[in-house]
Amino acid sequence: MIEVYWAGKTATGLVLATAKIFGHLIEARGCSSGRLGHMEVTMIPFALRASDHAFVEVSEVPSGLAANCICPSCRMPLIARRGDVKVWHFAHATRATYTTTQNGCDYSFFVSVRMMARQVIDQSIHLVLPSMEGLVTVNRPGWRPFQRPYTVTQERTVHLVDARVEQAFGDVIVDVIGLVGDVPLVLYFLHPGRPLPVALMATAQMTGRCGVVLIDLSILQEQFLLRQRSSAESFLDVLRAFLTTDVQHKKWLYHPRNKQMRAQAEAALLEDVDRHMQHVILAHAAPPAPVARCGNIRYECVLCSERWTGNAQSRTCPKCREHLYSREVDGGAPT
Ligand SMILES: [Zn+2]
Ligand SMILES: [Zn+2]
Repeated sequence: MIEVYWAGKTATGLVLATAKIFGHLIEARGCSSGRLGHMEVTMIPFALRASDHAFVEVSEVPSGLAANCICPSCRMPLIARRGDVKVWHFAHATRATYTTTQNGCDYSFFVSVRMMARQVIDQSIHLVLPSMEGLVTVNRPGWRPFQRPYTVTQERTVHLVDARVEQAFGDVIVDVIGLVGDVPLVLYFLHPGRPLPVALMATAQMTGRCGVVLIDLSILQEQFLLRQRSSAESFLDVLRAFLTTDVQHKKWLYHPRNKQMRAQAEAALLEDVDRHMQHVILAHAAPPAPVARCGNIRYECVLCSERWTGNAQSRTCPKCREHLYSREVDGGAPT
């Protein structure tokens, strides 16, 4: 399964591969989700405040242009919309701006969420990480493939410390690198417009002693748009809870123990396969009598007491030249 998504070389291959990881499509271009109208997609939950370069929610700033905020994706001014109907959000300041930045800003929702996620993780965070399972296969000609599942890790909560955002990991800029115990853990956020980089898996394999977890932010857009205006919980709280407790949208791309656990599972499976095959072959070989009988039947002639050994066609007594008086005797092979 892992080979699938870093073997892909084209953008399309990557997207398909990414889709496989999470079981739903993460598109490379555009948020073409039918339910979400374009205007709504332009709603931006978090903005970069010009005065201190912090990511903020609408509730933290004055309405309108006084918010003094810019779009983290296109750097154009945003206005804070604190209306009565829609969920509070930021939007690009002018239609003209919107039009000119439309193409560059297709993913402003996700860029804003991703940037805020980095800010939330600042220094350290508790994360529930998903379990990881693998499957080893052994092929033997003439047999169905033998398979054995194995567990690399159970789902568990880790404390990520020394977390630094926007770090180089090999040739890839990743969102977060921190430490779990003394093992580096990489977090990489995926969303529409941000597929998995090919080099990430290769870099992890080369590094060896590290973990790489992918976090799919796609679901958050729906969660944002379906929010109740009256919701007591801020969207920042939703994001915090998502980052900490969600496991459904996190996946291990690379686990430092996988190689070892895989090798162990493979060795155990090979042993089982050998034992099983030997067992089955012996069981099949147990009644070899007809084969052995073919060329190895002992006869005795009741007339002349002559004894000889032959196959099923050798009943005729070599002395009497008669077959009517020969009988099979016990003993198998001649002594
Ligand atoms: Zn923008
Ligand atoms: Zn047989």
